Amino acid sequence: MAYVVDKRTSCWSHDTMGVAGSGHRGEHAAGSVGQLLDLIRSGEATTRAALASSTGMARSTIAHRIDQLTERGLVVEIGDAPSTGGRPASILGFNVNAGVVLAADLGATHSRIGIADLGGSILAETRKDISIAEGPDAVLTWVEDTFVRLLADTGTLASHVLGIGIGVPGPVEFAAGRAVDPPIMPGWDQYDIRSRFVDAYRCPVLVDNDVNIMALGEHWIDPEAPDDFVFLKVGTGIGSGIILGGTLHRGAKGTAGDIGHVQIAGDQSICRCGNVGCLEASASGRALAIHLAERGIEAETSRDVVDLVRAGNQQAVRSVREAGRLIGRVLATVVNMLNPAVIVIGGDLADAGEHLLAGIREVVYQRSTALSTSDLQIRNSVLGDRAGITGAAAMAIEQVVAPSNIGSVLEREPELIR
Ligand SMILES: [Zn+2]
Repeated sequence: MAYVVDKRTSCWSHDTMGVAGSGHRGEHAAGSVGQLLDLIRSGEATTRAALASSTGMARSTIAHRIDQLTERGLVVEIGDAPSTGGRPASILGFNVNAGVVLAADLGATHSRIGIADLGGSILAETRKDISIAEGPDAVLTWVEDTFVRLLADTGTLASHVLGIGIGVPGPVEFAAGRAVDPPIMPGWDQYDIRSRFVDAYRCPVLVDNDVNIMALGEHWIDPEAPDDFVFLKVGTGIGSGIILGGTLHRGAKGTAGDIGHVQIAGDQSICRCGNVGCLEASASGRALAIHLAERGIEAETSRDVVDLVRAGNQQAVRSVREAGRLIGRVLATVVNMLNPAVIVIGGDLADAGEHLLAGIREVVYQRSTALSTSDLQIRNSVLGDRAGITGAAAMAIEQVVAPSNIGSVLEREPELIR
């Protein structure tokens, strides 16, 4: 079906987006149009009569604003409501084909780039082993070239791009679209990632931490997702994305959820951050690979550790399970403090079968309070290695349709919209 009504999420604070390229003309009217689009997208009100009763606006005002949305292709009539006598009312739907968003999930060692419709379906994507340490110029030039190629592959004009979402493996000052003091991203500190794309596409460009976008992606695709939700990534490093009350919690400086550097009591491993005893220094994919290599087992990366587990290497299985227990110690504190309903485990090491999950569950249920774990679910990611790109697309889409931005979409030339 071409037209879908999407679940709305409220993970983004629209007024702190720091969006570039959006006009302020007619903001009041645009806000109202945005409110109608919101109701239609969420399925809360899908006929003109229902919109009038939901908003208290006059039928003539509703009709005018719906005309604006249908003229730009954002809303379409998808059928007739059951007749109650007289002319049947048209059911309105959000048109996911009214434009596209571009999404990039930039990791430490590999990255994924995609193009998605406004319903979040990925239309085309590509993946590449590229080190973030090559620096912003090399990496972002590849991103720019890949965006152009994906647009060509899908027969999409650049003018159809309504938003761009980018995730990077380090702390981000979200409002500014810059990485801030990122430990594994040499050359990226304060680099203005957003400006590179705003000039080319004239649309909102949002940049966030890679684990935050994974949390958003996993939360976004699940219509039943609870409002209090933690996503844990265990790959080369360890980090988490925290959604509280339905809103992504970034923290004062964008470093919330950085649990890889919580200290494990009694542990003396030296972390790459310079401290001693960090969780990441003992339980990340990188740490496990080092640990196995010291025992004469060939392993360099977290993927190698997963391959060993899959091949039945017992030392690797024991190491992954023990890593799960160590992670569980820190997560038990997170559970006591934040009381999430779901903890989702993602990243390379989540692919190591049930071993990591088993170790985590064992300790979390043992060390958290009984009430906090009474309905707690701990499960692997549904999206796997596509959580990041899905979240980057979702982040962009939510900004495209935000009441604060919809005016700029409507102001685009009509022929620019499919
Ligand atoms: Zn550390």
